[in-house]
Amino acid sequence: MVLDAAWAVRWLNLCAEAMAEHRVELIELDRAIGDSDHGENMDRGFQAVVAKLDEGAPETPGAAMKLTAMTLMSKVGGAAGPLYGTAFLRAATSLGDSAEIDPGAWAAALAAARDGIVARGKAEPGDKTMVDAWTPAVDAARAAADGGSSDVLAVLVAAAEAAEAGAVATDPLVARKGRASYLGERSAGHRDPGAVSSALILRAAVGAAA
Ligand code: ADP
Ligand code: MG
Repeated sequence: MVLDAAWAVRWLNLCAEAMAEHRVELIELDRAIGDSDHGENMDRGFQAVVAKLDEGAPETPGAAMKLTAMTLMSKVGGAAGPLYGTAFLRAATSLGDSAEIDPGAWAAALAAARDGIVARGKAEPGDKTMVDAWTPAVDAARAAADGGSSDVLAVLVAAAEAAEAGAVATDPLVARKGRASYLGERSAGHRDPGAVSSALILRAAVGAAA
């Protein structure tokens, strides 16, 4: 399996499918600790990404991710739009104009994405945000790549599983950043919507390669 431009286009299309499929779930999660718009925002944003991709296929994975960044920044409102826009832009920059992504490059791109989210939103691990999905994903991808895995699918899977576990682990946390932080202790007992959408994005990356 090679992670090339065709893979990236499949990935982003699968992201759009996942956001449509999980739209109501994301709305419900954001209703509990936010303002109910996350599912709508993400669905609209990735539908716009698909429309852009349909206009012309990008030549590299980095180009596909840059197009995604620009589209999400302009179409997704709220906190998530700029955060995901920055994440995809930093990942695109990390990948440069390489035609294919190897395990080390995927780990580096995820780290760049996470660092971009942190630079923009100033959340730390444990603040009950999407950072709690991205940080374990970065660590797992790095460990899999450093462990000498030449199997890029295994690195994608490691990242997706860690993001999913990270999203589940936000349940008991008290939010310290974003809209959910207004609820204080009452934010505990709910899963962070942005951590869930982040895990969906990283799981779609596996689907596109499987
Ligand atoms: P809004 O909160 O403006 O309505 P969304 O509902 O689309 O935006 O997105 C909410 C998600 O954004 C949260 O679940 C959280 O994961 C993420 N988020 C909010 N603020 C931050 C931040 N400062 N750093 C990282 N992620 C954040
Ligand atoms: Mg919201």
